[in-house]
Amino acid sequence: MKKNSFWYGALVFGTGIFMASYRVVGKNKRSKNLKAEEDATKETKGGSNTSEQTYADFSDLTDDYDIIIVGASGAGMTAAIEAKDAGLNPIILEKMPFAGGNTVKSSSGMNASTTKFQEAEGIEDSNDAFYEEILAGGHGTNDKALLRYFVDHSAAAIDWLDQKGIKLNNLTITGGMKQKRTHRPSDGSAIGSYLIKGLLKAVHKRNIPILVNAAVTAINKNEGKVDQVTVEISGAEPKTLTAKAIIVATGGFGASKEMIEKFRPELKGYISTNQKGSTGDGIKMIEKLGGQAIDMEQIQIHPTVQQDEGILIGEVVRGEGAILVNQAGSRFVNELDTRDKVSAAITDLPEKSAYLIFDQGVRDRAKAIEFYDKKGYVSSGKDLKELAEKLNIPGSQLDKTVVTWNQSVADKRDKEFNRTTAMENGLTKPDYFAIKIAPGIHYTMGGIKVNTRTEVLNKENQPIEGLYVAGELAGGLHGNNRIGGNSVAEIIVFGRQAGQQAAEYVKNQY
Ligand SMILES: Cc1cc2nc3c(=O)[nH]c(=O)nc-3n(C[C@H](O)[C@H](O)[C@H](O)COP(=O)(O)OP(=O)(O)OC[C@H]3O[C@@H](n4cnc5c(N)ncnc54)[C@H](O)[C@@H]3O)c2cc1C
Repeated sequence: MKKNSFWYGALVFGTGIFMASYRVVGKNKRSKNLKAEEDATKETKGGSNTSEQTYADFSDLTDDYDIIIVGASGAGMTAAIEAKDAGLNPIILEKMPFAGGNTVKSSSGMNASTTKFQEAEGIEDSNDAFYEEILAGGHGTNDKALLRYFVDHSAAAIDWLDQKGIKLNNLTITGGMKQKRTHRPSDGSAIGSYLIKGLLKAVHKRNIPILVNAAVTAINKNEGKVDQVTVEISGAEPKTLTAKAIIVATGGFGASKEMIEKFRPELKGYISTNQKGSTGDGIKMIEKLGGQAIDMEQIQIHPTVQQDEGILIGEVVRGEGAILVNQAGSRFVNELDTRDKVSAAITDLPEKSAYLIFDQGVRDRAKAIEFYDKKGYVSSGKDLKELAEKLNIPGSQLDKTVVTWNQSVADKRDKEFNRTTAMENGLTKPDYFAIKIAPGIHYTMGGIKVNTRTEVLNKENQPIEGLYVAGELAGGLHGNNRIGGNSVAEIIVFGRQAGQQAAEYVKNQY
């Protein structure tokens, strides 16, 4: 891999939300729209902590690889590391000018059961309990074989990351879970940038090439085997690359207005939390090869999204104790219920928006709030009265709501809405804060049908030879409602499996 000059821009918000963006200054020319996208990313994320990053150069390309991986993000880089460690020669192709996809935006953490970090905190958990709670969250619609594989390999995924210096030993909880299973970096900061930075380091250590500005436009089958991609590099003439197996990890379609409208017309106009590259390319390309797209109408709406810029207000804020109130200053839902139910409760309010209310204690425990404050989303008051005035909600009611809530926390019983989790700390430490939120498009549960070996299944449910899929692109694991924290776990668990399985296939076949 030739070393080009690439600038790796990042912002540490709070104690560590570090989001990657890269500037290519080598001979790998960018198209105008990609440049604009990159600049927009840099703008949104700020520009501190600049360090150098290395990507492969166009001129380094050969025509033939063991494995081509489409998408340089959580699932794709995990698969690449496993394939390389199995002794093969993979390349990663990424259409954006930087690696990271939606993964770099992830905030609250990664779920896993029976981990060494849970054990260290005295949390008693079991894979069966994790399985049952996910199945309940997905209303029984999850693919049970995928789910079983997922929970049983979740602790190993945490260990695998730890071995690569990605330590997720700080635990919190997300909606729909009864245990603290959400693993995040030691300082409680957002997981995404920390994870991507660690994966990139592991990829570079192994000299796995990542080619950016490289949009795969078709995946091709020859003599019954998938063994080729067509790729457009920096807007140049399409080029064909050959491999013995292809792993597709292109993420979901949460940024495709066209697909959202096609499958859920009533969501037209909803803001999206997704990065611009999440446009369902993998789904379209694999359908053309005879793969099945399932659950396509299962699009997750996240309840707490800042509406001007589509920035997700992470579940960690509620997980560390925040409540939701309406314009009348009252609670109206169990804030830690599953996302579908909390979103529906907000949409049912006449004002169709709500406020997250929290104190300095929550702010100390959920570092992401510093970023939200920097963005100007946080209102504050030295007491609840001052805060209520700023929000134009009745102060006496807000005060009553918080007093009642603090009593529920003390009693460990929420008589009003039956909340049972994230009740370790009341809202008692001034100052007080609020963030106005409403639901936004967040995650696409549907996608390509795969088996537990991550092989893509055709309409007869037979594997399409040489083709593997991992990450948000795959459908079925989450059923009709994803639990927060399960997607980052999915990209590591099934990214690893895709890398291992594709490597085994290549070794057996060739
Ligand atoms: C704001 C936000 C916060 C989140 N927080 C959490 C959380 O705390 N916990 C959790 O579990 N989940 C969270 N999620 C969900 C989770 O981050 C994603 O579902 C997951 O990271 C997806 O990973 P992936 O590798 O499958 O896809 P992505 O990370 O989206 O990567 C796909 C990559 O493929 C590239 N690509 C697409 N098409 C092509 C093409 N044609 N050619 C080449 N490259 C292509 C994309 O540009 C992208 O880089 C969050 C999501 C968002 C948006």
